[in-house]
This record gives sequence, C-alpha cells and structure tokens, in this order.
Amino acid sequence: MLGQPTRQPGIPALLGVPFDANSSYLRGTADAPPLIREAFHCDSSNASTESGIELGEESFVDAGDLKLPADGAFTAIEIAVGELLDNAQSPVSMGGDHSITYPILRAFGKRFANLTLVHFDAHPDLYDEFEGNRYSHACPFARIMEEGLAKRLIQVGIRTLNAHQRKQAARFGAEVVEMRELPALEKLKLEGPVYVSFDVDVLDPAFAPGVSHREPGGMSVREAIAHLQAITGLLLGADIVEFNPKQDVSQLTATVCGKILKEILGKMIAG
Ligand code: MN
Ligand code: MN
Repeated sequence: MLGQPTRQPGIPALLGVPFDANSSYLRGTADAPPLIREAFHCDSSNASTESGIELGEESFVDAGDLKLPADGAFTAIEIAVGELLDNAQSPVSMGGDHSITYPILRAFGKRFANLTLVHFDAHPDLYDEFEGNRYSHACPFARIMEEGLAKRLIQVGIRTLNAHQRKQAARFGAEVVEMRELPALEKLKLEGPVYVSFDVDVLDPAFAPGVSHREPGGMSVREAIAHLQAITGLLLGADIVEFNPKQDVSQLTATVCGKILKEILGKMIAG
C-alpha cells in the first residue's frame, strides 16, 4: 500500500487512547479520553467550527476508547490505528502521553509515503533515550524519524531545546520552529499528506494548566488555532496528547482540548 500519497482522507474517527505508562514525571493522561469527549460534546458550545463546518452526526465516527493490554500496548495501538485506516477512516486520537504517537505513526508510515508531521509541543521529544526508556514520552520523534515514518518533521512552539536535542534535531533534519520565532504561519504551507500531533503543553499553562509538564511562555489558544488553520495539504490524522486531568483547574484544559478537537475535525472534513 506504500506510495499512495494521493489517497483521500477517510471519515474522521475519534479514538481514545488511555495510556500513560511512558510518562516520566506524572501519571494521569490515561484518564483524558472520556473528559475530552465530554468537553467536545458539551452544550456550553455548539457543533460549528470557526471555518464554518457543521460537525453533524454523519461527519465523523467515534471508535470508542482502546482497551490496552499491560504488555504490548504499542502493538495494540498500531493495529487499531491501521484497521481504521484500512477501513477508510482517519484516526483522531485523544488522550495518552506522547509516546503513543510512535505506534500511531508506524501504522501511518506503513500506508503513506511522503507524510509531513506537524508537531505542536513545548518539547521536541527527540531524546535518544530518557531515564533508560527509549519509548518514553520524551523520545517518540526520535523513533519515528529513525524508522523513516515521516518525510518531514516540523516542530512548532518548542521552548526547551537542550544540546542533546539540538543535535538530534540536526541529525533527523527536523524543522524546529521555536516559540520565540512565532508566528510562523507561512511555514505551514504544505503539500501532500499531513499528520498533526498536538501536545497540549504547547499552550501556555495559563490557558491549559492540565498537563504533566507546565512550561511557561507558550501559545495562547488563539495562536494555536491560527497555526492549525494555516496548515495546508491533506490532513489524514491527528492526536491530542498530554492532557492530564489530575492537573486541571475547573475543566479549563478539557474545554480547550474539546475546542482543538473541533477545529481539527473541521479541517479534516473541509479537505
Ligand atoms: Mn510531547
Ligand atoms: Mn510537551
């Protein structure tokens, strides 16, 4: 199936991924999926996106939450995402720590050549290993680039680059757009298939306190949406990771995740 970059995106499919075993500092992101879903459907807002897409019942499907085994969770994630793709569905996963993007991208990378990965994050997540764990949530983009699962990696909002990760970014040809360089809307004019990985800690903790690693000096919700809306190319899938409900205040971050999810779905449906 490799080499079908022109394959059209399928209907978006929500997929909860309750997994936080590769978190290095705090657990809790495994509890995120039902809270993001609840915020997304909350009657405090409506089902229209800013781009004018109506997210009616026929415009997306909900594949539910994965039931992951204690052993072999990554294999289960890769298989589930691959099955959705093979069923003409475009997975939008919710919840989990950022390590899950690696098995998700294994499913995508085996099916799509020329994928551009747009990664929103305070952190580059490019460590070769972190505290002895090569599958840590600090490492997924090293694994993805080593396996050639994406053609381009564009990292937006980064503000924690250290010497090791600068070296890794150069090694993998990652296009790092640091927070201090924003706005960078022009850099998101892309062609071909695109996958968006959205780590909620790209946002300033004032807007999204419910994360394991609060890193001040981040994006406003407005800036994040503006950069999402600026992406061109065919959006084939996305994830919203690192929302930690244990750290949230008055469901503020859950509400933000619901809004980001809505705008991502709108973008996928608009094509
Ligand atoms: Mn991350
Ligand atoms: Mn992060």
